[in-house]
Amino acid sequence: MAAPLKVLFVTSECAPFAKTGGLADVAGALPKALAGRGIDVRVVMPLYAGIDWNSLEVLEGTVVVPVAHGRAYGGVRMGTLPGSRVPIYFLDHRGYFDRPFLYGPPQEAYGDNLERFTFLSRGALELCKALAWIPDVIHANDWQTALVPGFLNTVEWAQPLHGAASIYTIHNLAYQGVFDGGALWLTGLGWEHYKPEEFEHFGALNLTKGAIIHSTLLSTVSPTYAREIQTAAFGYGLDGLLAGRGDDLIGLLNGIDAHEWDPGTDPYIAAHYSRLDMGGKAECKAALQREAGLPVRDDVPLFGLVGRLTSQKGIDVLAQALEGLLNLDLQFVLLGTGDPEAEAYLRWLDSVRGDRFRAWLHFDNGRAHRIEAGCDFFVMPSRYEPCGLNQLYSLRYGTLPVVRATGGLADTVNNYDELTGSGTGFIFHDLNPGAIYDTVGWALATWYQRPAHIKAMQELAMAQDFSWEHSAYEYEQLYLRAYERRRGHPFAE
Ligand code: ADP
Repeated sequence: MAAPLKVLFVTSECAPFAKTGGLADVAGALPKALAGRGIDVRVVMPLYAGIDWNSLEVLEGTVVVPVAHGRAYGGVRMGTLPGSRVPIYFLDHRGYFDRPFLYGPPQEAYGDNLERFTFLSRGALELCKALAWIPDVIHANDWQTALVPGFLNTVEWAQPLHGAASIYTIHNLAYQGVFDGGALWLTGLGWEHYKPEEFEHFGALNLTKGAIIHSTLLSTVSPTYAREIQTAAFGYGLDGLLAGRGDDLIGLLNGIDAHEWDPGTDPYIAAHYSRLDMGGKAECKAALQREAGLPVRDDVPLFGLVGRLTSQKGIDVLAQALEGLLNLDLQFVLLGTGDPEAEAYLRWLDSVRGDRFRAWLHFDNGRAHRIEAGCDFFVMPSRYEPCGLNQLYSLRYGTLPVVRATGGLADTVNNYDELTGSGTGFIFHDLNPGAIYDTVGWALATWYQRPAHIKAMQELAMAQDFSWEHSAYEYEQLYLRAYERRRGHPFAE
């Protein structure tokens, strides 16, 4: 039997071990789906403080990583992604990673993040050599591992790893890994690389820029976001560069964990239901209304929102529309944490409009499930949304998304067509309070006046397939293309 394609997935977070955002979900799920396709895929991440060290196997030896003044020494522990045999290696360096936070306290960054993630990026390569396992493709994700493609083209030049193709995936372009230019020496790269054609960007060191230039191929997490980041409005200064590599940049949608988010088996919700038997959804709605202390009414539409309360999510604009919306005959529940001003406003609104509105300002996974199950509509007025998971959960739970047409939202929600009754949600384009008000009003009017259309839309929404299996196939194609680009011949199976 021919050797399978070997892929190393390098990431700074991976569910369920350590998570701050969507990258962790991708890292926890995509490698499993790739392994299901017969790929020899392995994951590398840091051994953070919160991880159960004792359950992991200790590998012999030490990984030696050139960093800063000299060398950093790390141990390696190994486990598997839960529910699979996919190996995951944890780089163990207490000084760098035995800390309360992954990247720093809220709204802050650790001062030595460049050094910490240089250790991860270069350490991942040193690990491969120590294991004598030479991957065909190395898949790096976001700024924390953005040095990997550059290392392959420089310090690994003429070494075994130089033949590995690199994929760089942008999960959120707003975070680029920007540091003082003088810090480049920490990475072990020479000054000749500090130039606008590589790592220098407007007088600073920009790791993402280096990855965009050095990686064999690029991807991001939805086709629309792939186009958007090539424009000034979404490119955060890297749009020109990304447009220059436009043919090498592809948008592949994230999948969802179809076991965790399944209204037919979800342990967090009041009653189970499915596309063919929606009965339980009404029970979930009544239970959520009770949980929220709202009047238990099935004759009023219930809108929900779960997420980070930040400007990315358009929460500032929604706040301007909310008071007006609460004069309509609807109920609204919201779960999230984020900007202190947004939280203060929502807390106040909850206190004065508690008859129709409930704001829960904390993190609660079970409640997020109950909101997805119990609401009629789910609101996402995002300013930008690389992929977005909540609208995918909503579709699966028959909770129609009301979204702004950006990024993954535009790719996964089909707008309601009043003539035919088709569609899976309600879409607006301009981000302003009036557009949010009008579109929520449109959903509300449809709910009251055309229940048959709503029912048909729910069925269509629940029939959508956003599984990882489909995305894994597309990633495999991307890896094979990158391999061929790097080696000059196709991968021979
Ligand atoms: P992002 O990764 O930009 O935060 P996504 O929509 O891709 O947005 O994913 C957000 C994930 O975090 C979802 O699984 C969502 O349910 C969850 N989440 C966000 N805030 C909360 C919260 N306060 N309580 C529970 N879950 C939350």
